[in-house]
Amino acid sequence: MTLAILVVGSLLTVVLVSAAPRWLELRRARRRAQPAAHLHDELTGLPSRAWLHSRLDQVLARAKRHGFLTAVLVLDLDRFAAVNNRMGHEQGDQVFVLVARRLQELARTEDTVARLDGDQFVVLLEDVADPNSPARVAQRIIESFRTPLLLGENEVTVSLSIGVAICGSGDASPSDLLRDGSLAMQRAKQKGKARFESFDSESGQLAINRLILEARLRDAASEGELVVHYQPVVVLATREIVGMEALVRWQHPVQGLLSPDQFVPVAEEAGLIVQIDRWVLEHAGRFVARLDQQGLISPRFRLNVNVSVHNFGDRDFLEHIALTLARSGLAPERLVIEITETGQEIEPLTPGLEQLRLMGVGVALDDFGIGYSSLSRLRSLPVSVVKIDQEFVRGITEPSNFAIVHSITDLANVLGMEVIAEGIETQRQLELVRSAGCKRGQGYLFSRPVPEEQIGSILAQGSLSPRSGEGFHGSSTVQVPVSEIMPSAAQVPVTTAEH
Ligand code: C2E
Ligand code: MG
Ligand code: MG
Repeated sequence: MTLAILVVGSLLTVVLVSAAPRWLELRRARRRAQPAAHLHDELTGLPSRAWLHSRLDQVLARAKRHGFLTAVLVLDLDRFAAVNNRMGHEQGDQVFVLVARRLQELARTEDTVARLDGDQFVVLLEDVADPNSPARVAQRIIESFRTPLLLGENEVTVSLSIGVAICGSGDASPSDLLRDGSLAMQRAKQKGKARFESFDSESGQLAINRLILEARLRDAASEGELVVHYQPVVVLATREIVGMEALVRWQHPVQGLLSPDQFVPVAEEAGLIVQIDRWVLEHAGRFVARLDQQGLISPRFRLNVNVSVHNFGDRDFLEHIALTLARSGLAPERLVIEITETGQEIEPLTPGLEQLRLMGVGVALDDFGIGYSSLSRLRSLPVSVVKIDQEFVRGITEPSNFAIVHSITDLANVLGMEVIAEGIETQRQLELVRSAGCKRGQGYLFSRPVPEEQIGSILAQGSLSPRSGEGFHGSSTVQVPVSEIMPSAAQVPVTTAEH
């Protein structure tokens, strides 16, 4: 330490002047060892998004000078909301820590693992010599996560979807590269999760279109762009209409009428499906309550509404159903909530389904048979209706499909559940479905889904006849005039007995 005497004006000031090099060096060294908090993720200790951006800046500049490849793998945990719901946020956080640790174990010393935010991580691969190696790394990560993580004494299995983006000597910025990786990751999710996809500019464009769609979809309900079409459910023996299914469509201002397959998956990924399902429930509920007041539906007529399983993670979902029923004046017995039988576990939904049953609302298992469900699972689920997937009806002329339809129907009958066969298009399919024991169905043979204005007049007739033994063709979103669907009133036998 040195002593410096400064004379400022007439004042004598004594200042301690440190031996700058020594302590300044120490402080600088400490700073280097502990970068500013925002450069690290507190929970996992991994570098943060900010760190990653500045590192990528350097790496891309160097790669451009020397002609190296740089790759990012954007990783997203699959269905992490479900893990959080099941285990609670604290345990969920611990899962992040374990994921971070496993990724670090898998990475080479020259690679960096960073946490972007939430359940997204990035692996940065520098100086890549072989353009195929990032895909190999992605595959290794996916395979490694097949081994469960050990959280205390519990084993937790998580899977990841990964997007791979590689940059050569081009001018990509860190944001470009991360965006490309993220788009590829979303494609991996759409293609079934627990897999990786590499970015290519064509699919990138598709993904960008998807983002535009998503942005627009946020306002679709409030802008009045959603519409509901209705498809009758009939008693197969008599064609009496005993209900109808509400099917959402999006009247897109530029692209026209879009079918749910074009936007429901986007809405599910973007967390917008709960809002859409609520809107459909409310809208269709009011509509059916009006039909009831007008005396257009029989006492056993029911409205089927599709609801994504995401709704069950929403705390006030059941409350919303009760409120909708109260507001619309729709009797609970008139409502059936359809949930799709996919590969996902349905058992965690059981308490919610039980609640619906207590409220008097029916539950249908949609598209039954395509998921992993075994018939025996049916017994343990509080379900009142089973809807046989269209695939089996389409292929019902094959003995194996016929046998499946027969077994599902038999078991459902024993369990006191109602069975509806979906997608009946031809007279032959109708005959076979009936001889397999199925009593109710839907399909183009009877009617396509039609807009509100048309379903009113169809219901006024009470029943539907098949049109010259063959199904209708073309897109299901095309509006079919009533005359196309309805035979003349004189031909329609209005019956009530179910055979
Ligand atoms: P889903 O619930 O299984 O509905 C049956 C689908 O089959 C409908 O397609 C319907 O138009 C179509 N369909 C009916 N009869 C026939 C037939 O004879 N042949 C053929 N080939 N198809 C037939 P859509 O309206 O395009 O809906 C597709 C899926 O989108 C629905 O399958 C459902 O899972 C989902 N969805 C529709 N509306 C909603 C909604 O409001 N919320 C949610 N979360 N999902 C919805
Ligand atoms: Mg359905
Ligand atoms: Mg279905």
